[in-house]
Amino acid sequence: MPGSYLIKPVLDGSYKEISHGNGIYLYDSEGKAYIDGSSGAVTCSIGHGCKEVIEAMNEQAGKISFVYRSQFTNQPAEELADKLAAMAPEDLNWSFFVNSGSEAVETAVKIALQYWQEKGQGRKTHIISRWMSYHGITIGALSLSGHTERRRRFFSHLESSPAVSPPYCYRCPYQLSHPSCGLKCAEELQTAVDRTGKEHVAAFIAEPVIGAAGGAISPPEGYYQRIKEICNENAILFIADEVMTGAGRTGKAFAMEHWQTVPDISILGKGLSAGYSPIASVIVSDDILCTIKKGSNLIMSGHTYSANPQSAAAALAVLKVIEKENLIQHAEKIGILLMKKLQNLKEEFSMIGDVRGKGLLLGIEFVANSEISAKPFPKDYNITSLITRLAQDLGLLLYPSSAGIDGREGDAVLLAPPLNITEVEVNKLVSILHQTLKKAEEML
Ligand code: PLP
Repeated sequence: MPGSYLIKPVLDGSYKEISHGNGIYLYDSEGKAYIDGSSGAVTCSIGHGCKEVIEAMNEQAGKISFVYRSQFTNQPAEELADKLAAMAPEDLNWSFFVNSGSEAVETAVKIALQYWQEKGQGRKTHIISRWMSYHGITIGALSLSGHTERRRRFFSHLESSPAVSPPYCYRCPYQLSHPSCGLKCAEELQTAVDRTGKEHVAAFIAEPVIGAAGGAISPPEGYYQRIKEICNENAILFIADEVMTGAGRTGKAFAMEHWQTVPDISILGKGLSAGYSPIASVIVSDDILCTIKKGSNLIMSGHTYSANPQSAAAALAVLKVIEKENLIQHAEKIGILLMKKLQNLKEEFSMIGDVRGKGLLLGIEFVANSEISAKPFPKDYNITSLITRLAQDLGLLLYPSSAGIDGREGDAVLLAPPLNITEVEVNKLVSILHQTLKKAEEML
Protein backbone atom coordinates (compact mmCIF):
# COMPACT_ATOMS: atom_id res chain seq x y z
CA MET A 1 0.00 0.00 0.00
CA PRO A 2 1.87 3.11 -1.15
CA GLY A 3 1.74 6.00 1.27
CA SER A 4 1.18 3.86 4.38
CA TYR A 5 3.20 4.64 7.51
CA LEU A 6 2.63 1.21 9.06
CA ILE A 7 5.97 -0.45 9.84
CA LYS A 8 5.98 -3.90 8.22
CA PRO A 9 8.18 -6.88 9.21
CA VAL A 10 10.33 -6.45 6.10
CA LEU A 11 10.32 -2.69 5.76
CA ASP A 12 10.27 -2.53 1.98
CA GLY A 13 8.37 -5.81 1.61
CA SER A 14 5.05 -5.93 -0.19
CA TYR A 15 2.21 -7.38 1.87
CA LYS A 16 -1.23 -8.21 0.57
CA GLU A 17 -4.13 -6.89 2.60
CA ILE A 18 -6.56 -9.40 4.06
CA SER A 19 -10.14 -8.20 3.79
CA HIS A 20 -11.94 -10.98 5.65
CA GLY A 21 -11.83 -14.59 6.80
CA ASN A 22 -14.21 -17.48 7.07
CA GLY A 23 -13.41 -20.83 8.69
CA ILE A 24 -9.97 -22.00 7.58
CA TYR A 25 -9.89 -19.47 4.72
CA LEU A 26 -8.50 -15.94 4.51
CA TYR A 27 -9.37 -13.68 1.56
CA ASP A 28 -7.20 -10.82 0.36
CA SER A 29 -8.53 -7.53 -0.96
CA GLU A 30 -8.12 -8.81 -4.55
CA GLY A 31 -10.38 -11.77 -3.74
CA LYS A 32 -7.71 -14.47 -3.59
CA ALA A 33 -8.40 -17.25 -1.06
CA TYR A 34 -5.74 -18.80 1.19
CA ILE A 35 -6.00 -21.87 3.39
CA ASP A 36 -4.73 -20.72 6.78
CA GLY A 37 -2.48 -23.74 7.16
CA SER A 38 -0.66 -22.27 10.13
CA SER A 39 -3.55 -20.47 11.90
CA GLY A 40 -1.45 -17.32 11.44
CA ALA A 41 1.30 -17.74 14.02
CA VAL A 42 -0.36 -20.95 15.34
CA THR A 43 -3.04 -18.73 16.84
CA CYS A 44 -6.44 -18.83 15.09
CA SER A 45 -7.38 -22.24 16.48
CA ILE A 46 -11.08 -22.12 15.72
CA GLY A 47 -10.79 -20.45 12.33
CA HIS A 48 -11.98 -17.05 11.23
CA GLY A 49 -15.31 -15.28 11.61
CA CYS A 50 -16.70 -17.46 14.41
CA LYS A 51 -20.17 -16.01 15.15
CA GLU A 52 -20.32 -17.11 18.80
CA VAL A 53 -17.06 -15.31 19.62
CA ILE A 54 -18.01 -12.17 17.73
CA GLU A 55 -21.38 -12.04 19.52
CA ALA A 56 -19.75 -12.57 22.94
CA MET A 57 -17.28 -9.76 22.24
CA ASN A 58 -20.01 -7.41 21.04
CA GLU A 59 -22.13 -8.18 24.08
CA GLN A 60 -19.18 -7.51 26.40
CA ALA A 61 -18.32 -4.28 24.57
CA GLY A 62 -21.87 -3.12 25.25
CA LYS A 63 -21.35 -3.66 28.99
CA ILE A 64 -17.75 -2.67 29.74
CA SER A 65 -14.54 -2.92 27.71
CA PHE A 66 -11.94 -1.88 30.26
CA VAL A 67 -11.58 -2.36 34.00
CA TYR A 68 -8.35 -1.62 35.85
CA ARG A 69 -7.48 -4.77 37.77
CA SER A 70 -6.05 -2.87 40.75
CA GLN A 71 -9.47 -1.24 41.24
CA PHE A 72 -12.03 -3.86 40.19
CA THR A 73 -12.47 -7.43 39.08
CA ASN A 74 -14.79 -8.35 36.19
CA GLN A 75 -17.12 -11.21 35.43
CA PRO A 76 -15.55 -12.60 32.17
CA ALA A 77 -12.07 -12.70 33.73
CA GLU A 78 -13.44 -14.47 36.84
CA GLU A 79 -15.32 -16.98 34.70
CA LEU A 80 -12.34 -17.57 32.42
CA ALA A 81 -10.06 -18.27 35.39
CA ASP A 82 -12.60 -20.78 36.74
CA LYS A 83 -12.83 -22.46 33.35
CA LEU A 84 -9.05 -22.78 33.08
CA ALA A 85 -8.86 -24.19 36.61
CA ALA A 86 -11.35 -26.86 35.58
CA MET A 87 -9.43 -27.62 32.36
CA ALA A 88 -5.94 -27.70 33.86
CA PRO A 89 -4.65 -30.83 35.59
CA GLU A 90 -4.32 -31.38 39.34
CA ASP A 91 -3.70 -28.23 41.36
CA LEU A 92 -2.93 -25.85 38.49
CA ASN A 93 -5.78 -23.60 39.49
CA TRP A 94 -4.79 -19.95 39.54
CA SER A 95 -4.70 -17.69 36.50
CA PHE A 96 -2.82 -14.42 36.13
CA PHE A 97 -3.87 -12.77 32.84
CA VAL A 98 -1.58 -10.72 30.62
CA ASN A 99 -1.69 -9.77 26.95
CA SER A 100 0.91 -11.84 25.11
CA GLY A 101 3.01 -14.96 25.36
CA SER A 102 6.18 -12.95 26.00
CA GLU A 103 4.58 -11.10 28.91
CA ALA A 104 3.28 -14.38 30.28
CA VAL A 105 6.76 -15.93 30.20
CA GLU A 106 8.21 -12.91 31.99
CA THR A 107 5.40 -13.03 34.56
CA ALA A 108 5.95 -16.76 35.14
CA VAL A 109 9.63 -16.10 35.81
CA LYS A 110 8.80 -13.30 38.25
CA ILE A 111 6.29 -15.49 40.07
CA ALA A 112 8.89 -18.30 40.31
CA LEU A 113 11.47 -15.90 41.80
CA GLN A 114 8.91 -14.48 44.19
CA TYR A 115 7.84 -17.97 45.28
CA TRP A 116 11.38 -18.78 46.42
CA GLN A 117 11.77 -15.38 48.09
CA GLU A 118 8.56 -15.91 50.08
CA LYS A 119 9.92 -19.28 51.18
CA GLY A 120 13.08 -17.62 52.45
CA GLN A 121 15.21 -19.01 49.61
CA GLY A 122 15.90 -15.81 47.74
CA ARG A 123 19.19 -17.14 46.40
CA LYS A 124 17.23 -19.34 43.99
CA THR A 125 17.17 -16.91 41.06
CA HIS A 126 18.57 -18.73 38.05
CA ILE A 127 16.26 -20.01 35.29
CA ILE A 128 17.49 -22.86 33.09
CA SER A 129 16.22 -23.17 29.52
CA ARG A 130 17.07 -25.10 26.35
CA TRP A 131 18.71 -24.28 23.07
CA MET A 132 16.39 -24.35 20.03
CA SER A 133 13.54 -22.81 21.94
CA TYR A 134 11.43 -19.70 21.68
CA HIS A 135 9.82 -18.07 24.67
CA GLY A 136 9.19 -14.56 23.37
CA ILE A 137 10.63 -11.38 21.98
CA THR A 138 10.96 -9.12 25.05
CA ILE A 139 14.42 -8.94 26.61
CA GLY A 140 13.66 -11.30 29.51
CA ALA A 141 11.81 -13.88 27.41
CA LEU A 142 14.45 -13.64 24.68
CA SER A 143 17.17 -14.27 27.27
CA LEU A 144 15.60 -17.68 27.89
CA SER A 145 15.08 -18.39 24.20
CA GLY A 146 17.57 -20.58 22.40
CA HIS A 147 16.83 -19.03 19.02
CA THR A 148 20.23 -17.88 17.81
CA GLU A 149 18.97 -15.70 14.97
CA ARG A 150 16.54 -13.75 17.16
CA ARG A 151 19.11 -13.38 20.02
CA ARG A 152 22.14 -12.25 18.08
CA ARG A 153 21.55 -8.50 17.79
CA PHE A 154 20.55 -8.08 21.43
CA PHE A 155 23.21 -10.24 22.96
CA SER A 156 24.65 -7.51 25.16
CA HIS A 157 21.28 -6.98 26.85
CA LEU A 158 20.32 -10.62 27.40
CA GLU A 159 20.56 -11.70 31.01
CA SER A 160 21.20 -15.38 30.53
CA SER A 161 21.72 -18.13 27.97
CA PRO A 162 20.04 -21.48 27.54
CA ALA A 163 22.11 -24.31 29.01
CA VAL A 164 20.50 -27.55 27.88
CA SER A 165 20.21 -29.35 24.50
CA PRO A 166 16.79 -29.89 22.94
CA PRO A 167 15.29 -33.42 22.69
CA TYR A 168 15.92 -33.38 18.93
CA CYS A 169 15.98 -37.05 17.94
CA TYR A 170 16.30 -36.37 14.20
CA ARG A 171 19.64 -34.67 14.88
CA CYS A 172 20.50 -36.03 18.28
CA PRO A 173 23.18 -33.81 19.82
CA TYR A 174 24.85 -37.01 21.08
CA GLN A 175 24.39 -38.99 17.84
CA LEU A 176 22.44 -41.56 19.81
CA SER A 177 18.98 -42.97 19.33
CA HIS A 178 16.06 -43.52 21.61
CA PRO A 179 15.60 -45.53 23.82
CA SER A 180 19.20 -46.76 24.07
CA CYS A 181 20.32 -43.12 24.51
CA GLY A 182 19.12 -43.26 28.14
CA LEU A 183 17.54 -39.82 27.58
CA LYS A 184 20.91 -38.10 27.79
CA CYS A 185 19.31 -34.81 26.74
CA ALA A 186 17.08 -34.91 29.84
CA GLU A 187 20.05 -35.86 32.05
CA GLU A 188 21.76 -32.68 30.82
CA LEU A 189 19.38 -30.75 33.06
CA GLN A 190 20.97 -32.38 36.12
CA THR A 191 24.42 -31.41 34.83
CA ALA A 192 23.28 -27.82 34.32
CA VAL A 193 21.83 -27.74 37.85
CA ASP A 194 25.05 -29.16 39.32
CA ARG A 195 27.12 -26.56 37.50
CA THR A 196 24.98 -23.71 38.84
CA GLY A 197 24.26 -25.19 42.26
CA LYS A 198 20.68 -26.18 43.00
CA GLU A 199 20.51 -23.56 45.76
CA HIS A 200 20.70 -20.96 42.96
CA VAL A 201 18.22 -22.49 40.51
CA ALA A 202 14.62 -21.28 40.63
CA ALA A 203 13.06 -22.97 37.60
CA PHE A 204 13.42 -24.84 34.33
CA ILE A 205 11.34 -23.67 31.36
CA ALA A 206 10.49 -25.62 28.19
CA GLU A 207 7.98 -25.73 25.35
CA PRO A 208 6.33 -29.18 25.30
CA VAL A 209 6.68 -29.32 21.50
CA ILE A 210 9.32 -26.96 20.13
CA GLY A 211 7.54 -24.69 17.67
CA ALA A 212 9.05 -21.57 16.13
CA ALA A 213 12.65 -22.61 16.77
CA GLY A 214 12.48 -26.26 15.77
CA GLY A 215 9.65 -27.16 13.41
CA ALA A 216 7.48 -29.10 15.91
CA ILE A 217 10.11 -31.13 17.73
CA SER A 218 8.31 -33.54 20.01
CA PRO A 219 10.44 -35.30 22.65
CA PRO A 220 10.69 -39.07 23.02
CA GLU A 221 8.62 -41.00 25.55
CA GLY A 222 9.91 -40.58 29.08
CA TYR A 223 11.64 -37.26 28.45
CA TYR A 224 9.33 -34.96 30.42
CA GLN A 225 8.75 -37.55 33.13
CA ARG A 226 12.53 -37.54 33.72
CA ILE A 227 12.71 -33.72 33.52
CA LYS A 228 10.04 -33.42 36.21
CA GLU A 229 11.84 -35.94 38.43
CA ILE A 230 15.05 -33.91 38.15
CA CYS A 231 13.12 -30.73 39.00
CA ASN A 232 11.55 -32.39 42.05
CA GLU A 233 14.84 -33.91 43.24
CA ASN A 234 16.51 -30.48 43.11
CA ALA A 235 13.58 -28.34 44.33
CA ILE A 236 13.24 -26.52 41.03
CA LEU A 237 9.95 -25.30 39.58
CA PHE A 238 9.01 -26.62 36.16
CA ILE A 239 7.45 -24.01 33.86
CA ALA A 240 5.69 -25.41 30.77
CA ASP A 241 5.49 -22.77 28.07
CA GLU A 242 2.29 -23.90 26.36
CA VAL A 243 1.81 -20.61 24.50
CA MET A 244 1.87 -22.48 21.18
CA THR A 245 0.84 -25.96 22.31
CA GLY A 246 -1.97 -25.21 24.78
CA ALA A 247 -5.75 -24.94 24.45
CA GLY A 248 -6.11 -28.11 22.41
CA ARG A 249 -3.53 -27.55 19.67
CA THR A 250 -1.80 -30.92 20.11
CA GLY A 251 -4.94 -32.97 20.68
CA LYS A 252 -4.89 -32.48 24.46
CA ALA A 253 -6.02 -29.43 26.42
CA PHE A 254 -2.41 -29.07 27.65
CA ALA A 255 0.35 -30.75 25.62
CA MET A 256 2.14 -31.89 28.80
CA GLU A 257 -0.68 -34.43 29.19
CA HIS A 258 1.00 -36.44 26.40
CA TRP A 259 3.79 -37.17 28.88
CA GLN A 260 1.58 -37.42 31.99
CA THR A 261 3.53 -34.54 33.46
CA VAL A 262 2.08 -31.74 35.57
CA PRO A 263 4.27 -28.64 35.71
CA ASP A 264 4.23 -26.09 38.54
CA ILE A 265 3.38 -23.27 36.16
CA SER A 266 1.72 -23.55 32.77
CA ILE A 267 1.49 -20.69 30.29
CA LEU A 268 -1.24 -20.28 27.67
CA GLY A 269 -1.40 -17.65 24.91
CA LYS A 270 -2.14 -17.71 21.20
CA GLY A 271 -4.93 -20.34 20.98
CA LEU A 272 -6.45 -19.22 24.29
CA SER A 273 -8.37 -16.50 22.47
CA ALA A 274 -7.62 -17.94 19.00
CA GLY A 275 -6.58 -14.53 17.75
CA TYR A 276 -9.88 -12.77 18.53
CA SER A 277 -8.34 -10.49 21.17
CA PRO A 278 -4.93 -10.41 22.92
CA ILE A 279 -4.76 -12.42 26.13
CA ALA A 280 -2.41 -14.95 27.76
CA SER A 281 -2.53 -16.69 31.10
CA VAL A 282 0.03 -17.80 33.65
CA ILE A 283 -1.56 -20.69 35.53
CA VAL A 284 0.11 -21.49 38.85
CA SER A 285 -0.31 -24.30 41.37
CA ASP A 286 -2.06 -24.09 44.75
CA ASP A 287 1.33 -24.37 46.43
CA ILE A 288 2.74 -21.34 44.61
CA LEU A 289 -0.37 -19.23 45.15
CA CYS A 290 -0.68 -20.17 48.84
CA THR A 291 3.02 -19.52 49.51
CA ILE A 292 2.80 -16.00 48.08
CA LYS A 293 -0.55 -15.41 49.82
CA LYS A 294 0.90 -16.36 53.19
CA GLY A 295 3.92 -14.13 52.52
CA SER A 296 3.52 -10.72 50.89
CA ASN A 297 -0.01 -11.50 49.64
CA LEU A 298 0.73 -9.63 46.41
CA ILE A 299 2.10 -10.79 43.08
CA MET A 300 4.55 -8.13 42.06
CA SER A 301 3.51 -7.86 38.42
CA GLY A 302 0.69 -6.69 36.19
CA HIS A 303 -0.07 -4.70 33.07
CA THR A 304 -2.61 -2.00 32.31
CA TYR A 305 -4.57 -4.41 30.14
CA SER A 306 -4.24 -7.46 32.45
CA ALA A 307 -7.51 -9.38 32.86
CA ASN A 308 -9.15 -7.17 30.25
CA PRO A 309 -12.89 -7.98 30.13
CA GLN A 310 -13.13 -7.73 26.35
CA SER A 311 -10.26 -10.21 25.82
CA ALA A 312 -11.50 -12.47 28.62
CA ALA A 313 -14.97 -12.60 27.02
CA ALA A 314 -13.37 -13.55 23.70
CA ALA A 315 -11.25 -16.32 25.29
CA LEU A 316 -14.21 -17.65 27.23
CA ALA A 317 -16.29 -17.87 24.06
CA VAL A 318 -13.40 -19.58 22.25
CA LEU A 319 -13.06 -22.21 24.98
CA LYS A 320 -16.82 -22.80 24.86
CA VAL A 321 -16.66 -23.36 21.09
CA ILE A 322 -13.72 -25.77 21.55
CA GLU A 323 -15.74 -27.67 24.15
CA LYS A 324 -19.08 -27.64 22.28
CA GLU A 325 -17.52 -28.81 19.01
CA ASN A 326 -15.19 -31.37 20.64
CA LEU A 327 -12.29 -29.72 18.89
CA ILE A 328 -9.58 -31.22 21.09
CA GLN A 329 -10.60 -34.79 20.22
CA HIS A 330 -11.07 -33.69 16.59
CA ALA A 331 -7.55 -32.20 16.52
CA GLU A 332 -6.12 -35.47 17.77
CA LYS A 333 -7.97 -37.50 15.13
CA ILE A 334 -7.44 -35.17 12.18
CA GLY A 335 -3.82 -34.64 13.26
CA ILE A 336 -3.19 -38.37 12.80
CA LEU A 337 -4.69 -38.16 9.31
CA LEU A 338 -2.60 -35.11 8.36
CA MET A 339 0.53 -36.74 9.77
CA LYS A 340 -0.08 -39.85 7.61
CA LYS A 341 -0.40 -37.68 4.53
CA LEU A 342 2.83 -35.86 5.37
CA GLN A 343 4.57 -39.20 5.78
CA ASN A 344 3.36 -40.11 2.27
CA LEU A 345 4.85 -36.88 0.96
CA LYS A 346 8.11 -37.78 2.70
CA GLU A 347 8.18 -41.03 0.69
CA GLU A 348 7.74 -39.08 -2.52
CA PHE A 349 10.02 -36.08 -1.99
CA SER A 350 13.67 -36.55 -1.10
CA MET A 351 13.77 -32.94 0.10
CA ILE A 352 11.72 -33.95 3.14
CA GLY A 353 14.01 -35.20 5.88
CA ASP A 354 11.58 -35.50 8.78
CA VAL A 355 7.92 -35.01 9.61
CA ARG A 356 6.99 -34.70 13.26
CA GLY A 357 4.83 -33.12 15.92
CA LYS A 358 1.63 -33.82 17.83
CA GLY A 359 -2.03 -33.31 17.00
CA LEU A 360 -2.35 -30.29 14.74
CA LEU A 361 1.10 -28.90 15.49
CA LEU A 362 3.14 -30.62 12.80
CA GLY A 363 6.46 -29.81 11.17
CA ILE A 364 8.39 -30.69 8.06
CA GLU A 365 12.18 -30.47 8.07
CA PHE A 366 13.81 -30.12 4.66
CA VAL A 367 17.17 -31.61 3.68
CA ALA A 368 19.21 -31.62 0.48
CA ASN A 369 18.58 -35.31 -0.23
CA SER A 370 17.08 -37.56 2.40
CA GLU A 371 18.06 -40.67 0.42
CA ILE A 372 21.71 -39.83 1.02
CA SER A 373 21.85 -38.03 4.37
CA ALA A 374 20.21 -35.54 6.69
CA LYS A 375 22.48 -32.76 5.41
CA PRO A 376 20.56 -29.47 5.22
CA PHE A 377 20.37 -27.37 2.06
CA PRO A 378 23.04 -24.67 1.85
CA LYS A 379 21.88 -21.63 3.81
CA ASP A 380 21.82 -19.34 0.77
CA TYR A 381 19.16 -21.54 -0.89
CA ASN A 382 16.70 -20.02 1.63
CA ILE A 383 14.52 -23.12 1.37
CA THR A 384 12.08 -22.15 4.12
CA SER A 385 11.24 -18.85 2.46
CA LEU A 386 11.10 -20.48 -0.98
CA ILE A 387 8.57 -23.08 0.23
CA THR A 388 6.42 -20.60 2.18
CA ARG A 389 6.39 -18.18 -0.78
CA LEU A 390 5.48 -20.86 -3.35
CA ALA A 391 2.77 -22.21 -1.05
CA GLN A 392 1.32 -18.74 -0.51
CA ASP A 393 1.23 -18.12 -4.28
CA LEU A 394 -0.74 -21.36 -4.60
CA GLY A 395 -3.11 -20.37 -1.77
CA LEU A 396 -1.67 -22.08 1.30
CA LEU A 397 -0.17 -20.34 4.32
CA LEU A 398 2.64 -22.11 6.21
CA TYR A 399 4.62 -20.91 9.24
CA PRO A 400 8.35 -20.51 8.57
CA SER A 401 10.30 -22.24 11.32
CA SER A 402 13.95 -23.15 11.65
CA ALA A 403 15.82 -26.37 12.24
CA GLY A 404 19.32 -27.86 12.32
CA ILE A 405 21.40 -27.87 15.47
CA ASP A 406 20.87 -24.47 17.17
CA GLY A 407 18.82 -23.35 14.18
CA ARG A 408 22.01 -22.09 12.56
CA GLU A 409 21.34 -23.99 9.37
CA GLY A 410 18.37 -26.06 8.43
CA ASP A 411 14.87 -25.44 7.17
CA ALA A 412 11.46 -26.29 8.48
CA VAL A 413 7.85 -25.21 8.25
CA LEU A 414 4.98 -25.65 10.66
CA LEU A 415 1.57 -26.92 9.64
CA ALA A 416 -1.00 -25.93 12.22
CA PRO A 417 -4.40 -25.33 10.63
CA PRO A 418 -7.43 -24.38 12.71
CA LEU A 419 -8.53 -27.27 14.93
CA ASN A 420 -11.89 -27.45 13.15
CA ILE A 421 -10.39 -28.26 9.75
CA THR A 422 -12.38 -31.01 8.01
CA GLU A 423 -11.07 -34.08 6.22
CA VAL A 424 -12.02 -32.57 2.84
CA GLU A 425 -10.09 -29.42 3.73
CA VAL A 426 -7.08 -31.48 4.85
CA ASN A 427 -7.05 -33.13 1.42
CA LYS A 428 -7.14 -29.73 -0.26
CA LEU A 429 -4.31 -28.46 1.98
CA VAL A 430 -2.14 -31.50 1.21
CA SER A 431 -2.86 -31.21 -2.50
CA ILE A 432 -1.57 -27.59 -2.51
CA LEU A 433 1.43 -28.66 -0.43
CA HIS A 434 2.13 -31.38 -3.00
CA GLN A 435 2.04 -28.82 -5.84
CA THR A 436 4.32 -26.55 -3.80
CA LEU A 437 6.94 -29.28 -3.31
CA LYS A 438 6.78 -30.27 -7.00
CA LYS A 439 7.40 -26.65 -7.99
CA ALA A 440 10.23 -26.29 -5.48
CA GLU A 441 11.82 -29.51 -6.75
CA GLU A 442 11.71 -28.23 -10.36
CA MET A 443 13.34 -24.99 -9.29
CA LEU A 444 16.19 -26.53 -7.32
N1 PLP B 1 6.28 -18.88 23.91
C1 PLP B 1 6.13 -19.65 22.82
C2 PLP B 1 6.28 -21.15 22.97
C3 PLP B 1 5.84 -19.10 21.59
O1 PLP B 1 5.71 -19.89 20.52
C4 PLP B 1 5.71 -17.69 21.50
C5 PLP B 1 5.42 -17.05 20.20
O2 PLP B 1 5.58 -17.61 19.16
C6 PLP B 1 5.87 -16.93 22.65
C7 PLP B 1 6.15 -17.55 23.85
C8 PLP B 1 5.73 -15.44 22.61
O3 PLP B 1 4.38 -15.09 22.44
P1 PLP B 1 3.96 -13.65 21.89
O4 PLP B 1 4.39 -13.58 20.48
O5 PLP B 1 2.45 -13.65 22.06
O6 PLP B 1 4.61 -12.65 22.77
